[in-house]
Amino acid sequence: MLMKLGMQIKKYMREGYSTVMRSKVFVGIAFIVLIFGIFYGANQFAGQSEESLESREEVTFSSIYPGLNSEIHTKETEKYTTSISRPYTEDATINESINEWINQQEKEFKVNMEKWTEDGADTVHRGHLNIQVETEEIAEMIYVLEFEAYQIAGGANGINRSKAFVIDLNENEQLHLFDVIHKNEASIQNIQNLIREELYSRQDVVDYLFEDKIEDELEELDSIEWSVSREGLALYFDEYEIAAGAAGSIKAVIPLNKIKPYLQESFTHKLIEDFPEADGDTESEKDSDQKEEKKEEELDPNSKYIALTFDDGPHPEVTPRVLDALEKYNSTATFFMLGSQVDYYPLLAQRVVADGHEIGNHTMNHPDLTTLDVEQIMEEVIVSSSIIEEATGINPKLIRPPYGGFNDDVKNIVEDKNLSLIMWSVDSLDWKSREAEAINEEVMSNISDGSIILLHDIHSATADALPQLLDSLDKEGYKTISVSHLLELRENSGAGPYFSR
Ligand code: ZN
Repeated sequence: MLMKLGMQIKKYMREGYSTVMRSKVFVGIAFIVLIFGIFYGANQFAGQSEESLESREEVTFSSIYPGLNSEIHTKETEKYTTSISRPYTEDATINESINEWINQQEKEFKVNMEKWTEDGADTVHRGHLNIQVETEEIAEMIYVLEFEAYQIAGGANGINRSKAFVIDLNENEQLHLFDVIHKNEASIQNIQNLIREELYSRQDVVDYLFEDKIEDELEELDSIEWSVSREGLALYFDEYEIAAGAAGSIKAVIPLNKIKPYLQESFTHKLIEDFPEADGDTESEKDSDQKEEKKEEELDPNSKYIALTFDDGPHPEVTPRVLDALEKYNSTATFFMLGSQVDYYPLLAQRVVADGHEIGNHTMNHPDLTTLDVEQIMEEVIVSSSIIEEATGINPKLIRPPYGGFNDDVKNIVEDKNLSLIMWSVDSLDWKSREAEAINEEVMSNISDGSIILLHDIHSATADALPQLLDSLDKEGYKTISVSHLLELRENSGAGPYFSR
């Protein structure tokens, strides 16, 4: 059931990428998802909270991709920022090969950063490494992880790299090209021809292609980056690999109907049978909105109100613990979520809403927005909002830029999308100290009426700190409310940026 639901979400999500928003369909789906979510989720939460009393460490909220979880690791130094999506499985060997590639990107970035700083310090620009992943379940427990890494470490142009892993979690193995296609002369030759055909028919790259380099690549078919899905066989070429720089990196897709004769039958069978083409025949729309909304209390303008904000989640282990603590202390918070994480944990996003908290947009992949062009910023904002809306039925009104980085382009887009740009006035430094005692001290010694407090629901220390923090806030007469509520209280409206109310 859950998986079918997952496929449906995925399906609409994919369409969402291209059409941005077909709101009616989305809202319908969102309701259905929400109702299932509350029903399914409630059971899961009940089980989890009991469990959590005994073995908290082992509790992981299940992802929508069975066997697969995801974490995002972010880092901020004076010279650079990094944000790395790290999907992981229960199999150490698969994790190792994923990590090996990620580590290689990090290493290269650090070398380039060193060179850049040696060449004379650039005090205006910071370097940035962003590794993002798109996940697709192509057959039952068989996934494609399509990575994209880009780094800016000096120089006008960044470096882009793609990498795809096709992993079969039924067998716990990474699939190689010859695991899915026939390894015989005829099949290889035909596939080589199909790749040539595809590349030379591409108007956008054909003028830049290097024939000799393409032939070199085709010679070693199994060393080309690839993935497969119902769309077909995809091949990835980095910048300069087979074409001049102007072509950028190239993804060539040979449609499934053309490649099918050369795929191993057992594999094609799985690809087609496990997820037959969804025909869009979804359950009829439920008309009753069963959302449990916390009643907005009348606020006393003379009281002390603050907003707790949690960034970078949802996280399968930490977010449920944060929610449990907030529930226990009857507190309200705002969660600035990453679209990439909501993609994995839509039910967790639903629980956040069901518990009466607010969700804000923290972009799709946590890039430093000041390193992106207008179109890229738009995509980061819009896709994340639509994934959050698909999961929860609620379109975020707030956005917090990763690393607090924004420029005029960001501000214009935020205004254009009717969002408010939310910064913070108190940084708990949880990302730095990773220590409960230090987090509490940092917050309590800097807090005042109207503060917006920055926390992260990805560090276990933050969840550790929460009970005591909520207790101290209560003792000092602070009430926790959502960011939107805090802004309303002083009649703040518009794009911001807001650092406190
Ligand atoms: Zn963040």
